[in-house]
Amino acid sequence: MKRIEGKLCLVTAAGQGIGRASAERLAAEGGHVIATDINDKALAELATIDGIEARKLDVTDKAAITSLIDDIGTVDVLFNCAGIVHNGTILEATEEEWDFAFDLNVKSQFRMIRAVLPGMIEKGHGSIINMSSVAGPVTGPVNRLVYSASKAAVAGMTRAIANDYVKQGIRCNAIAPGTVDSPSLHERLRATGDYDGALKAFIGRQPMGRIGKPEEIAALVTYLASEESGFTTGVVHVVDGGWTA
Ligand code: NAD
Repeated sequence: MKRIEGKLCLVTAAGQGIGRASAERLAAEGGHVIATDINDKALAELATIDGIEARKLDVTDKAAITSLIDDIGTVDVLFNCAGIVHNGTILEATEEEWDFAFDLNVKSQFRMIRAVLPGMIEKGHGSIINMSSVAGPVTGPVNRLVYSASKAAVAGMTRAIANDYVKQGIRCNAIAPGTVDSPSLHERLRATGDYDGALKAFIGRQPMGRIGKPEEIAALVTYLASEESGFTTGVVHVVDGGWTA
């Protein structure tokens, strides 16, 4: 039997990067994956993959979330992957940027979890996986004020949910990656105006001499989605190539 056989998995921001790799891996391990994103082109690509059903979902839209869950029913696994990196210090951040980052990085997870949890409780099981980062819960990198604050909030929410629902068979874990190769990382590198220098700096802080691959995070997502992690809840799982060790 495959590791995710028979499980209905819902993944947000599955269009590219870590979400995409995770949706593909969960499907390859036998899951039926509802892969969601706001990018139509990425959704069309996802729809061609065996085991993946692509659906448009903006995680900041509460009504759209309710309607999707009404349609697909109770999921066994929710991977809240959507999030955005905000660069800058506290004096460079505006209130609008703070609100946007918290809406997308934190409140969207709150919305998604509120939508799936009643069904999971009724079924007596469920695995919720929230995307955090080492930035915030573990370390405070320079120029990442809003991002780190939002990802630390994800860690707090994860532990609270784990404790509140452990007796109902719900597990809730967070993932805290270091720097991972993804389309938005390359955008951020280009935005510095010195792509090569910025990439060198990211790699320079990695004891392994490289940044992570989305597939290496997808492997952890798959573990947390599967019964292999049945004794694990309320944990922020660091996967950062030793950066914060
Ligand atoms: P990415 O940033 O390249 O892709 C993000 C995806 O999110 C895109 O497909 C985009 O269309 C989608 N998206 C944007 N707004 C959305 C919305 N409102 N609703 C639904 N989908 C939306 O992917 P990534 O770099 O792998 O990052 C994914 C997650 O992992 C984020 O939460 C990020 O903070 C976290 N993370 C990334 C890294 C990294 O180095 N890449 C490290 C730690 C944590």
